[in-house]
Amino acid sequence: MAHDHTHGFGTKAIHAGQAPDPSTGAIMTPIYQTSTYVQQSPGKIIGEYDYSRAANPTRTAIEANLAALEGAKHGLCYSSGVAATGVVLHTLSAGDNVLLCDDVYGGTNRLFHRVFKQLGVETTLVDMTDLNKLEDAFKDNTRLVWVETPTNPTLKCIDIEGVAKIAHAKGARLAVDNTFATPYLQNPLALGADVVCHSTTKYIGGHSDAIGGALLTNDDELHRELKFIQLSEGAVPGIMECFLLLRSTKTLHIRMERHCANAKRVAGYLSEHGAVEKVIYPGLESHPQHEIAKKQMRDFGGMVTIYLKDGLDKARTMLERVHLFGLAESLGGVESLIEHPAIMTHASVPPEQREQLGISDGLVRLSVGIEDVEDLIEDLDQALA
Ligand SMILES: *Cc1c(COP(=O)(O)O)cnc(C)c1O
Repeated sequence: MAHDHTHGFGTKAIHAGQAPDPSTGAIMTPIYQTSTYVQQSPGKIIGEYDYSRAANPTRTAIEANLAALEGAKHGLCYSSGVAATGVVLHTLSAGDNVLLCDDVYGGTNRLFHRVFKQLGVETTLVDMTDLNKLEDAFKDNTRLVWVETPTNPTLKCIDIEGVAKIAHAKGARLAVDNTFATPYLQNPLALGADVVCHSTTKYIGGHSDAIGGALLTNDDELHRELKFIQLSEGAVPGIMECFLLLRSTKTLHIRMERHCANAKRVAGYLSEHGAVEKVIYPGLESHPQHEIAKKQMRDFGGMVTIYLKDGLDKARTMLERVHLFGLAESLGGVESLIEHPAIMTHASVPPEQREQLGISDGLVRLSVGIEDVEDLIEDLDQALA
């Protein structure tokens, strides 16, 4: 079923990459908790496996499942989202330039600027909501464009198709971090991206219990490279994490439907609240890239960002008073979370860059979960009172 394009998303989520275990009929893919595999004679392996860093059947199942969901030919899983990001960066060499959208996950920003910089990979930050700025930013040595959309935490939406055309005309590859949207809402490969990156820790895992990352591509040559780096660097997920992900993707479509519906209600409620200066949600007509979001996303996701009128004081009280929303970093789980990007998730972004991006003291990010939305609104209401 791995490359089955005829079934709908929900059917693929439940079945792709998986078949009943041939020896027992077990409907769930077993947890092949093994590091190695016995051989018949030296070099003559029994099945497809010789060592679990290279490949493991539970991992093969989730890799094929995620590939099917993104409409990709190939899928690879890694030990975390940043490990997956690092693998894409390892396809570059010293002296290469990368164009990075200016409002990315804090850990992505840190990886580009603090780790790969030392290895000679140069990063240029660009506001990619303006394609003219993107075009002007290219240098002779630009090999890769890295896009996150919607961005984190200010939920800018970047025109993937537009960026892909420019990147390819300039001879660069396009990587898209699709963590916020998930394959249920947005498929960057179909819009021209060369590789999609996910932190499966977030919506794909969805239960706040496992760290992981994935890379999906249709490009055979790029896949070989990414797989070689997976084997050589060894940032592979544990087998239990692979099993947890297989269980999680089976409900991705229904979880996302509820995340989107709840977030829309919460965004609407907050828009009317007197303590709130501005609500950022791609589904609102007031969102500056609402049209782009409508064009490339099926719905608008579960993340809502707000600016509070009274800055840090109000933010602090609100974050201390919530009961149902957990005050925590991360996002995309079934439970609602709330956080303060300037102090928490984006503390590693330099203050000047934070200010320029609007990551101010009054900014609060909500990951709206799939609880009953009336209860979530009641919780926010008492926290903002
Ligand atoms: C969390 C996150 C990452 C990093 O993933 P980890 O699994 O925490 O390593 C990358 N990109 C985005 C958009 C994220 O939210």
